[in-house]
Amino acid sequence: MHLFFALLVGPGLAAASSILFQGGTIIAFDDQTESLQVIRGGSVLVTDDRIASVSGPEDRISVGNDTEVVGITGKILAPGQINTHLHTWQTVFKTLGSNTSLVDYFGRYGEFAAAGLLSADDVYISQLAGVLESVNGGVTKILDHAHHTWSNETSEAGLQASVDSGVRVYWGYTFHNITATTPAFLVQDQIANFEDLASNPAFKGSPTEICIAYDGFGPTPNVAEVQAIMGLAEEFNIPVIQTHSVEGPWPLQNTPEALERLNLLNSSIPFVLSHGSFLSARGHQLLRTHNHYISITPESEFHYGHTQPTAHLASDQATLGVDTHFTFSADMLSQTRLWLQTVRATLYKAVLDRWQIHMHSPMSVNQAFLMSTRHGGLALRRNDLGIIAPGAKADLAVTVDGKWLKKGGKLLAEGYYEGRIQNRLIQTSPVLYEVGESWINGLSVGEVLTVDSKRGEGNGYGGLFLAVNGTQ
Ligand SMILES: [Zn+2]
Repeated sequence: MHLFFALLVGPGLAAASSILFQGGTIIAFDDQTESLQVIRGGSVLVTDDRIASVSGPEDRISVGNDTEVVGITGKILAPGQINTHLHTWQTVFKTLGSNTSLVDYFGRYGEFAAAGLLSADDVYISQLAGVLESVNGGVTKILDHAHHTWSNETSEAGLQASVDSGVRVYWGYTFHNITATTPAFLVQDQIANFEDLASNPAFKGSPTEICIAYDGFGPTPNVAEVQAIMGLAEEFNIPVIQTHSVEGPWPLQNTPEALERLNLLNSSIPFVLSHGSFLSARGHQLLRTHNHYISITPESEFHYGHTQPTAHLASDQATLGVDTHFTFSADMLSQTRLWLQTVRATLYKAVLDRWQIHMHSPMSVNQAFLMSTRHGGLALRRNDLGIIAPGAKADLAVTVDGKWLKKGGKLLAEGYYEGRIQNRLIQTSPVLYEVGESWINGLSVGEVLTVDSKRGEGNGYGGLFLAVNGTQ
């Protein structure tokens, strides 16, 4: 039993059978026009886990005596944001990675560096804190690339924290050969572990679902391993497969073309390709044809430098995510705004470079908002997620399945404001590691210009960064 196993079980999470949100601005979704519909003075009736009705100010709504009526005059009721890429367990690294490069990341904070250095209880509390930070920022659904799977115990701990949170976490069990632990924890061990977890009734019945994450689809896949993992995906009917996809000079790959070579794009299970940096025109066409999505994580891609040179051309098959929230924040509205203005700046520049001026904005707020809500549902091939419309799941920025997670601006997780979670988290002293150079072997490394932000001597860079070989 984990230290905080019972943390979230409290009277605050008891569901009323119905909740009426009354008299606010509703960001609803119109199924007919496939667009947002802003209703002022509107109301939303939730019954059990679904939205029963969405009403305008003139509509009469009759509700039973057991309906909880919540006045939202002067407030906005939005669908919960969908974060389609996060490594939630990494919360414990907060404040350590503000200036990391991608090489630093793999050497110090990634799954292969951290394996074995955090206990199951460490993983549990770090995962829980990350989910709660997300809820606090209005996120109700997370596609979690859960690569804390370096032992049976740490795997179960992160899943248990997700279940305990009450949030809709698509917890992606990550298959990877971990050799830093003693004994090694290899894909064959992980297959047995996955089967145990996926068939354990204790992990059913909550909004959290077990999925799969895997970064070995190509360019040089272990075909037998891929087949074994896809076999599990089908056997357990998992809702989504996540993979890191970065092209250009980066050695991650897992491109749509790689999935095509493995004949996986016709799978009935949707793929979400995290980042999609350097996505090709052909890759975009493959995503369109077979209806799979990329998850753009703007702040992460700019922070680490894999950047996002082409994804603005693939907005119809793109969702948004956060990735490594320990280097910034887990809230999705910031990411949505950042992506919106990035696309605008990119497309304005194309006009300005011709010494011309533009006449309209190339991307609307509506489009950006839908990318972080509705598109997340579409990436999962779910028409009932990420929207406020009759019949949709009642995940309303403060509720999941119609159950309160945050009320009156405060999280309902027991002990949260007394520091129980935070205090436990800071007892976990992360170990900082020397960066191994193996990851960059064979890659072409180039110098980047350092900004000078200080008048006179020095450049103001400061000491809060960790460079290759551990030098500062
Ligand atoms: Zn990632």
